[in-house]
Amino acid sequence: MVKSATTASPDLGDEPQTEEELARLEAALEHAREQFTEQKLRFTELREQVFTEIAVTHGAIGAYDIIERLSDKGTRLAPISVYRSIDALMEAGVIHRLESKKTYFACRRHEHAGRKGRPIFLSCEECGSVQEVAAQSVFDTIMGLAQSTGFKPKVKFVEVSGICRDCEKKS
Ligand SMILES: [Zn+2]
Ligand SMILES: [Zn+2]
Repeated sequence: MVKSATTASPDLGDEPQTEEELARLEAALEHAREQFTEQKLRFTELREQVFTEIAVTHGAIGAYDIIERLSDKGTRLAPISVYRSIDALMEAGVIHRLESKKTYFACRRHEHAGRKGRPIFLSCEECGSVQEVAAQSVFDTIMGLAQSTGFKPKVKFVEVSGICRDCEKKS
């Protein structure tokens, strides 16, 4: 099996170390639980485990890495179970997929309450981190342009790759 490119990132594999990271994970789990309840979906133990692996990741993580990490912790799972959990988490909107890298990251929009509109994803080429920025106007523009040519767009998300602020400072 081919490992996803993101495994090269040195920041992957971090467990929450500081109080702040733990608190952030707790908040993310709480938010995910709420989302599942709201949509009358079950936040099963497996879904919670898979979500936790994604949420503790600094950047985005591939399905294969999730399976590997869970198995390192003694939870051996059929890949199909993990893929199903990922699908359920995406459907509930608590994680997103970076199409360009086939990786997943936890939605952090609950940390920025009040920011409305669909987000674009800013994906760092250096550290692999992903930020979400509300940018409804971007989607409106795409819709308008496409429709003016009679094209029916199915744009769910827009990804922009580049260098994040932290990596920019380091260089
Ligand atoms: Zn999100
Ligand atoms: Zn970066």
